Order: sequence, then C-alpha cells, then structure tokens
Amino acid sequence: MLAAGGGVALAVGWTIRWRPGRLRRRGASPLALGEVLDLLRQAYGATAAWAVGAVEGALELVGGQDTDAETRRRGAALVQLASVDGRLHVVHDPEMLYIAVGDFPYAAGLALEGSAHPEALADAIAGALRRFVAGMRLAEEQSAIPRARIVAGRVSRLVAGALTLEGMARAAVELGQQLTHRGVALVMATGDHAQIVAVSGAADRRLAGVQLSIDSPVARAIATGIPVATRGAEDVFGPGVPERRRSERAGTAYPLLDGAIVVGAFVVLGPPFDADAPALDDLSPLLNDLGPRLAAARAVHDAERRAVVDPLTGLRNRREFERVLSDARSGKDGATLIYVDLDHFKKLNDTLGHPAGDAALKHVARLLEAAVRTGDLVARIGGEEFAVWLPRTPLREGIEVAERIRRTVADKPLTWSSSVYPLTTSCGIASYPELVGNVLNLQAAADAALYRAKELGRNRVEKAGRTN
Ligand code: GH3
Ligand code: MG
Ligand code: MG
Repeated sequence: MLAAGGGVALAVGWTIRWRPGRLRRRGASPLALGEVLDLLRQAYGATAAWAVGAVEGALELVGGQDTDAETRRRGAALVQLASVDGRLHVVHDPEMLYIAVGDFPYAAGLALEGSAHPEALADAIAGALRRFVAGMRLAEEQSAIPRARIVAGRVSRLVAGALTLEGMARAAVELGQQLTHRGVALVMATGDHAQIVAVSGAADRRLAGVQLSIDSPVARAIATGIPVATRGAEDVFGPGVPERRRSERAGTAYPLLDGAIVVGAFVVLGPPFDADAPALDDLSPLLNDLGPRLAAARAVHDAERRAVVDPLTGLRNRREFERVLSDARSGKDGATLIYVDLDHFKKLNDTLGHPAGDAALKHVARLLEAAVRTGDLVARIGGEEFAVWLPRTPLREGIEVAERIRRTVADKPLTWSSSVYPLTTSCGIASYPELVGNVLNLQAAADAALYRAKELGRNRVEKAGRTN
C-alpha cells in the first residue's frame, strides 16, 4: 500500500490563489502545460487532472474543470496540499481514487472513477505524476534563465510564420499585447506619412488604417528614432486623429529600426513603463526583431504590388489582366468582358495638358471601380483604355454594368483648375457563352464591339456580334 495522506481537511482555509483552468507561468506556455496534463489524464483513463505551480509567490492551479463540483473541490484541495508538503497523497473514497504528488511548489494529481483499482496502477500513476512534476520544475528553471531567448523564439515563430505583411503586423500586435498586457498598435512609415496598420484586441479597432499627422508623437518617434511617451490626455497618435472615445490616449511609441532606417513604430498604450518593468525586457526582443522583418516583408509586398498594379491609376495592369483572363479560360463559367475607351482623349491632353489627362485617367479609374462589385477586375490595359472583367456574369447583367459605366462617366465630368471638362466613354462588350462560343475569342470580340461603338458616334455601349 502506498503512503496515504488523509490531508484534505488540512487544505481548507488556506489562502491559496486559485484560478481554475489557467496557470500563468512566466516563460512556459500555459497551453503546453494543459495539454500535457490532459494527455496524462487520458493515459490513465482518469476523470480529472490538476496541476499546481507558483506564480509570483502565490500558488495557482489548473485542471479539474471536466468533472463535478465535489470531485473538483476534493481533488484541487489534495493537489494544493501536495504542492505545499511535497509528498505523495493517495485518498480512497467510495466513488473515487485521488492520487497527488508534490515537490514544492509544484504538484500534479489525478482522480479515477471507482474504488477497486489495482495497486500497480496507483504505483504507475504516482511515477508518471512525479515525472510530470519534475518536468514542470525543469521548464520553470530553463525559462527563468534565458527568458529573453524564449520570448525571441516566440517572436520568430509567430511573426515569421506570417505569410503576408498584414499577417505579420497582426501577429506582432497580438504578441505585443500578450507581453505587455496593454493595447498595442503598429504604425508603418511610408515616404512622408505614417499609418496605423494593425491594432491588438485590447486597443480601439477603429484606429486601424488611420493616417497620422507629422506633428504626432508617433511620427516624432519615427523621425528621430527615439521612443516618445505621452501621459494623461495627450494623444500618442496626435491631434490629427479624430475623436474616437478611446479609453486610453497616453502611450509610448517605440521606433522600429531596420539598420539605420526607421520602418515604423510600435505603440504601447497606457502610461509609460518603469525602466525596470519586466514587460520591457519581454518586449525588447520583439522590437529588435520586428524592424528588419517588417522591412523585408514590405519589400516583398511592394514588389508583388508593382508587378500587378498600374502606377498612375492604381488599377491592375495589362499583364495582370491577361493572367486573370488566361486562368479563366481553363474554367467553364460564363463571363463578360467590357473594353472601355475614353472618347477624344487626345483633345483633352492638347487643350488642358498632360497633367489634366493624367487626372482624368485617375478620375475615370475611380468611377470604374465604383461601378463594379468586389471580385470583378478593373484594369488599365493601354493609355486611355480599360478592361472590366466580370466573372460568372451573364450578358444581360454585363450590359447593365457597361451602361452604368458609360452613364456615370458622362454624368461626372472632370474638374480641373476649377473648370469643368466633360468626359465620355465608348464600351465594347462580349459575353461567354451567349455571344462568343469560345472563350479564347472574347478579347477580339470585345475589341471589335468597341471599334463599332466609336464608329457609331461614341458615348455608347455596343455588344459583340454572335461568333464562336
Ligand atoms: P477616340 O475617341 O477615337 O478614342 O479618340 P482618342 O483621342 O481618345 O484616341 P487616340 O487613341 O487617338 O488618343 C489616345 C490619347 O491618349 C493619346 C495620348 O495623348 C493619350 N494618352 C495615352 N496615355 C496617356 C497617359 O498616360 N496620360 C495622358 N495624359 N494621356 C495619355
Ligand atoms: Mg480614346
Ligand atoms: Mg484608345
């Protein structure tokens, strides 16, 4: 028989801080601890399992949530007792067998249904619990020494695991919040402005996407490469940020560096940390790591964007349009293609000058985007020629879109140097399979239709003739 301790009653009245279901241990992942505990429970077919560890001088307990209140109370008390006296406890009651092993300040325990368990099983469980408790101590000791390394490791996994610039920004702010227990935001600097690109769950979501004024404390941190902190009601995001009923205005902006270049700022909301605050130790590997990673991710992001976007209008370029179309050729879905060409555009350039022409192209680009749905593609495929690709859209709907485009451009003239210049477009439209039997012929058919629209007097929509 194992040494049995009937010490449950002793535990009553102790001031042990008990937060069921969560053991916060510095450096070690609470999830990993819970998972291992659960594996242990499953391995022995136990009803419930508990573990106790020390956090800042107080004992905390996890587990036991998967059983009834009475078992939970008795098991938790026994495991807490074991954690304090460092002994093995085995308690039989009519319905349950409780086994707990402790090694101050750690402990673990299991509760098994039934009373007739072989002694060898209890022995095996005690051995497994001892190894588990030894593992907890080891994890704590390892994490206490190179804590910065562990945090840095988490940074690398979380942040580097992100595939996109956006994903990386999100991972960084969530991690920053975990490390500081504060709301955090990530600001990226591009050219002469700074923009909030991600905010953590505890910060005001409406801050995301906001452009910051060059007078803002965050912009100052970016310009100087030195952290800037605000206190009280002074808004770390500066006077340009609209009134947003935010609970926290004060914050500290830490510049993020890639070598000598400031790529942005990491903003931790709330009053400044004391110089010796542990959160600062945890945060610094993230801050050091983030600058070069963001710079690299942004370079990739920008290069990818340049490859597909027309720099003047921001629409997709001709190459991207061709790529999307050739992808679509392999499918069997119906689709509509509209070619749009500005009428007498040369005259506009000749009368108002090239910059006015550029402004008109941008103006029309915005109108085209507004006329289509998400999932449709608007591309600038030539000087003043655009393509609108409407996947899974039949001819009848495509004609409505083309008419809408023609009408809005005609209704919304260009304003240039306070004078108003009317614009019109001609549209050629072709649909598969209604007008064009072979998807490969869509472009030629839309082109021919556009040519006819020009011939028939411009400012009109023409559909392609029936062809294969
Ligand atoms: P049509 O009604 O027959 O289409 O007449 P158009 O004048 O629009 O056609 P044309 O093809 O003769 O002229 C197109 C003009 O578009 C030529 C050029 O001056 C202008 N253009 C092409 N690309 C750009 C650009 O990037 N910026 C500006 N400002 N103008 C451009
Ligand atoms: Mg034209
Ligand atoms: Mg043209």
